[in-house]
Amino acid sequence: MGIVMQLNSNSCFRRVLVCDSIHDEGVRILENSGFKVDFKPLMTAEELISEVSKYDALVVRSRTKVTKPVLEAGERLRVVARAGVGLDNIDVETATKRGIIVINSPEAPSNAVSELVIGLMLSIARKIPEADASIKQGAWIKNRLEGFELKNKTLGIIGFGKIGYLVAKKAKAFDMRILVHDVIIEKLMDQVREVGGEAASFEEVLSTSDFVTLHIPLTSDTRHLIGEKEFNKMKNSAYLINTSRGAIVDEEALVKALKAGVIAGAALDVYEEEPPKRKELTELKNVVCTPHIGAETLEAQRANSVIIAEKLIKLFEKARDRHNSLQSCLKNNTAREI
Ligand code: NAD
Repeated sequence: MGIVMQLNSNSCFRRVLVCDSIHDEGVRILENSGFKVDFKPLMTAEELISEVSKYDALVVRSRTKVTKPVLEAGERLRVVARAGVGLDNIDVETATKRGIIVINSPEAPSNAVSELVIGLMLSIARKIPEADASIKQGAWIKNRLEGFELKNKTLGIIGFGKIGYLVAKKAKAFDMRILVHDVIIEKLMDQVREVGGEAASFEEVLSTSDFVTLHIPLTSDTRHLIGEKEFNKMKNSAYLINTSRGAIVDEEALVKALKAGVIAGAALDVYEEEPPKRKELTELKNVVCTPHIGAETLEAQRANSVIIAEKLIKLFEKARDRHNSLQSCLKNNTAREI
């Protein structure tokens, strides 16, 4: 009987609270599938705690903190959906203990980030930020802006998952040589070959690449993976690109390496602390900085909300199917077989 009750309540999880701003296409998809959606992107933490008990699913981005008190107040909450990559703003442990499913959409921004990486490489190679700033200041310094081409340069990709693979595909179109390092490289050799890349050791990537780009998650193993020792292995003419997570790079060591000419420069979308406090890093001339805009494209934001809506609908349908099949077994007296 307990199981039936639980499935019954799952089968009608139709009230969804969207408490951060997401692209409206996802909201439309949910509404068209019969969900009742409340869109309250400016809700405070107190308001959330007092209203969450009415909902079966919460949709958040990074603004809303889904804390223990929120989850405990969400008596009928079945799903917390994070439109985006990280789950840092969700107390996953408490959610799991309470049987609340946590989902996200890590696949949504992959193309956006991979395009940014190409943009950052071109910015470095053709000095685009400097060229733009000079014109805006009324200068014409054409002769001082000689750059270099990506063609025939070596791109070292550390982490060949969703983003690393897409970066490789695009870089190949620029006739770059692609070196790939990943902890599970043996399983990824088909994709490596597909993009015309070559598997390489971590050391080989560092010592032979003209650009080293990072596409790995931040874990206790990867925190400060790139520090003084690693910069010393890189070529003096090499550039580091980081669009993954700031703390994968030891920023203090990076400042030293950039100032001493151990490496030629860097392009950063992510920082150990955001917004970045380390002015000595962001103000360096050989650093191109963007404010964590990897996923900030219309398409990635739309994909975030659509993917989350589709995953929610699938979860709902699965629960309904399980409920229907249990009901029919009960009717036929075959419930024990489930
Ligand atoms: P993914 O999970 O698809 O791929 C990560 C890859 O890294 C995996 O193949 C894994 O085997 C590999 N890996 C893990 N540890 C490694 C190590 N120590 N050495 C070598 N390889 C290792 O992830 P993804 O979707 O490609 O995302 C990569 C990173 O990009 C994540 O850190 C993510 O947070 C970040 N990201 C940033 C933005 C942004 O706005 N800048 C947006 C989306 C994702």
